[in-house]
Amino acid sequence: MAPFPGSGLAKGLAVTLRTMTRKTVTEQYPEVQPELPPRTRGVIGLFEENCTVCMLCARECPDWCIYIDSHKETVPAATPGGRERSRNVLDRFAIDFSLCMYCGICIEVCPFDALFWSPEFEYAETDIRDLTHERDKLREWMWTVPAPPALDPGAEEPKELAAARRTAEKLAAQQQPPATEPHADEQARAAESPTRPHGDSQQQSEQPRPQQEGTE
Ligand code: SF4
Ligand code: SF4
Repeated sequence: MAPFPGSGLAKGLAVTLRTMTRKTVTEQYPEVQPELPPRTRGVIGLFEENCTVCMLCARECPDWCIYIDSHKETVPAATPGGRERSRNVLDRFAIDFSLCMYCGICIEVCPFDALFWSPEFEYAETDIRDLTHERDKLREWMWTVPAPPALDPGAEEPKELAAARRTAEKLAAQQQPPATEPHADEQARAAESPTRPHGDSQQQSEQPRPQQEGTE
């Protein structure tokens, strides 16, 4: 059966009408910044103080796009007679984001919480070599890492937080000035001076005795 003349036009107009009345989903970027989910994988930030140069992230990265250089340093013994220790010092930490496939393996395997996802994504470059972010730039990204979500009410405190709190309390206790002790000269003078009765007993001996009732 032949289609009704003009039915195609009516169908097209119906589609246009339906689309016109539907809510738009176009985001006016860059005038309006998109609302990204908290776990967005934008760029990787490095918290250098936590990095022990264990190389796990570089070894596990499937793209081999993490470059780490380090050297060993000898730390003197903390106590007399103790042993010297050696530790790794970071010389270079870089990630080539032109190779990175944002799998997140490096962040997952880091045993010391030194790598974090940031939702920042505006770091396009005209020169591909500029997509290799060195440690200073990776540290800058740390400022854009969102705070972790709040714990559920009554949840157990994470062991990392408890350890950090204990360390902060210990440092605060160490920084408090020591209780003032009498100077050595004062102690010597006190030892040489004739012994005096205890302050309380002196006061008691100087206090007038209460008169007894009926004794006048
Ligand atoms: S996200 Fe994946 S590909 Fe990118 S640096 Fe980390 S491990 Fe390598
Ligand atoms: S896994 Fe973590 S601690 Fe080890 S080198 Fe990588 S960032 Fe540093």
